[in-house]
Amino acid sequence: MIKINEMSIKENLFQVKEQIGERATLVAVSKTKPNAAISEAYQSGQRVFGENKVQELVGKYESLPKDIEWHMIGHLQSNKVKYIAPFVELIHGVDSEKLLLAINKEGAKCNRKIKCLLQVHIASEESKFGFSKDELLQMLSSGITQSLSNVFICGLMGMATYTTDEAKIHKEFKYLSEFFAELKCRFFLNDKNFKELSIGMSGDFLMAIEEGSTMVRVGSAIFGERNYR
Ligand SMILES: *Cc1c(COP(=O)(O)O)cnc(C)c1O
Repeated sequence: MIKINEMSIKENLFQVKEQIGERATLVAVSKTKPNAAISEAYQSGQRVFGENKVQELVGKYESLPKDIEWHMIGHLQSNKVKYIAPFVELIHGVDSEKLLLAINKEGAKCNRKIKCLLQVHIASEESKFGFSKDELLQMLSSGITQSLSNVFICGLMGMATYTTDEAKIHKEFKYLSEFFAELKCRFFLNDKNFKELSIGMSGDFLMAIEEGSTMVRVGSAIFGERNYR
C-alpha cells in the first residue's frame, strides 16, 4: 500500500507514477479537490484529470489550463451530456444505450467525435452502475453502435467490489479483461480505437495492471483522503 501524504501531492504523484511505469495511463482523480491541488499536480507534469460531477468538471475546465485532458469518470445523466460535450476527452461510465445515443447527438452538435468507454458491472455491490455482460452483448450485436458517427467506442471500464479480499478483486478484473478480449475479437477486430481497459483505483491499481489495465483512475493516493467518495 502507498502511504498517503496529505502535504505533498507532488511526492504522492511521483510515487504512483513510478509504480505504474509505462504500463498504463494515469487519470488523476481530482473530484472534490480544489483547483490549487490540481495546479500542483499540473506543475509536476500531470495532464490527465478525472471528475465525477458535471458541474464541478465544467467549473474546473473553465478555470484551469486548456491543455488539461478532462475525463468524466462518474455516472452521467443523458440530459447533462450537453455541458461537457464541447471539451471532454473521454467519458468512462457509459452504462446505457440511451446515454450513448445522447452523447452521439451532442457530439454532432459540436462537431466532435467523443471518446467513450462502456461500463460493465463486475462488483458484487448493487450500487455500482454498468451494463451486464448480456446487455452489452445484445447492444453490440444489434449493430446500433456502428451507426453512431459522433462517438468512438474506445473500450471498457469497471469497478471492483470494495473489499480487502485481493483474490476477489483479481477475479473481477480478470473477468473484465477476458470479456474485453472477447469483444475485441467479435466486434472491434479492425477498430484501432477499441483498446482501453479502465480498471484500478488507489487501493487496487497494481492488481488491475496485472490483469491488463491500460488506464488507472487514482484519486486519494495522490490528493489524500476525500470527505466523500
Ligand atoms: C472516486 C473514483 C475513483 C478514484 O478513487 P480513489 O480510491 O480515491 O483512487 C476512481 N474511479 C471512479 C469511478 C471514482 O468515482
